[in-house]
Amino acid sequence: MSSLQPVRGTHDLMFDDIRRHRHIEATAFEIAQRYGYSEIATPAFEFTEVFARTLGDTSDIVTKEMYTFETKGGESITLRPEGTAGVARAFITNGLAQQTPLKFFYRGPMFRHERPQRGRQRQFHQIGAELIGVAGPQADVEVIVLAKHILNALGVTNVTLQINSLGDAESRTAYRDVLVKFLSGRRDLLSVESRERLERNPLRVLDSKDPADRDAIAGAPKFGDHLNETSHAFFDAVKSGLTAHGVQFVVNPALVRGLDYYSHTAFEFVTDALGAQGTVLAGGRYDGLIGDMGGPVTPGIGWAAGIERLAMMLPALAPAKRPVAVIPVGPAEEQAADLLAAELRAVGFAVDVGYGGNMGKRMKRANKIAAVAAIILGEDEIKANTAAVRNLDSGEQTIVPRADLIGHLAPYR
Ligand code: ATP
Ligand code: MG
Repeated sequence: MSSLQPVRGTHDLMFDDIRRHRHIEATAFEIAQRYGYSEIATPAFEFTEVFARTLGDTSDIVTKEMYTFETKGGESITLRPEGTAGVARAFITNGLAQQTPLKFFYRGPMFRHERPQRGRQRQFHQIGAELIGVAGPQADVEVIVLAKHILNALGVTNVTLQINSLGDAESRTAYRDVLVKFLSGRRDLLSVESRERLERNPLRVLDSKDPADRDAIAGAPKFGDHLNETSHAFFDAVKSGLTAHGVQFVVNPALVRGLDYYSHTAFEFVTDALGAQGTVLAGGRYDGLIGDMGGPVTPGIGWAAGIERLAMMLPALAPAKRPVAVIPVGPAEEQAADLLAAELRAVGFAVDVGYGGNMGKRMKRANKIAAVAAIILGEDEIKANTAAVRNLDSGEQTIVPRADLIGHLAPYR
């Protein structure tokens, strides 16, 4: 294959695609700011350890999906597969423990080596939010309400919120034992991968998408039946908080995060509009993460959403701002046209010019860029210090004295 190809699973973003991405990012950040979030941009790569330690050596991301390479200096570097680990690393290395609670919004590219399909790329983009330093269920409610607010503002409404509780460490240990007992009895039904998970990280079996595993899991004991009293009260507070905010949800007992540092609330906004890639936004509470990374033990909760998946669910975008086009009739008027364009840009108009060729070709460009009006400069106009302004929607054309031009164009600004 020619090397002049985009790498599999990567895409060039241009025209309406990138407008959709930027619209999603801008809308999300505008709303996050109303909740007190400020933006953080961590590097697109980190020492491999940052992810290996946080995501655990049994997660799909770490075992299969990371882009890891050795630098010339012999350091192991990984392109970030997700945003939370980098934010937690930044929290620790910048010594932010005294400044909690902290609220961070992020956006940017993530990298995972997985099989590309609709809604699944190797370079994809996320927006995300992290609330660090608030231990109570109020924080869980707030980040979910924020997520819902953003989805609503984007017009992404055909989604269902699923939530579950992973309990505290005590509940998880108790549940893990019961689950291992259950699954061990059905070992023969499990996929090879899940048999391995059963040894190393049994909760992850519940997360399997393999149909055979799905059958084997059916009837598994539910996490919800093994929560201790503290965890129960926490989950109840989250549910009643969401209800008070008018946010509808369904409890999905199969919703798990296999990583030990996750606790209490796990949630996902899912849709059936995107086939197998149904999770649009996913999040959870990670009270153990920062401590596990070697930082001061600090609670946290957050979520991330895939921009490509959101973009597929977005209603049609509002049309882009239409420019005006300055069209010189011929080469002799080109400089005057360029200077008029500069004058109009200086006062805030979006202006493009008709480049080269005959009038037909120059006008074609005005139409191609969807200009709202053409300002035509010929020899006569320049001599008379006027311009011909043609409304490109109605075709109506008026001769306007140069002194009145900006006023005349005001509706097109
Ligand atoms: P999935 O189950 O679809 O693989 P995940 O559990 O790996 O998702 P998270 O790590 O929770 O996903 O990431 C949060 C969100 O980022 C997902 O809900 C999805 O919208 C998006 N996302 C994850 N991986 C990809 C990818 N390879 N391409 C596009 N979007 C992705
Ligand atoms: Mg995945």
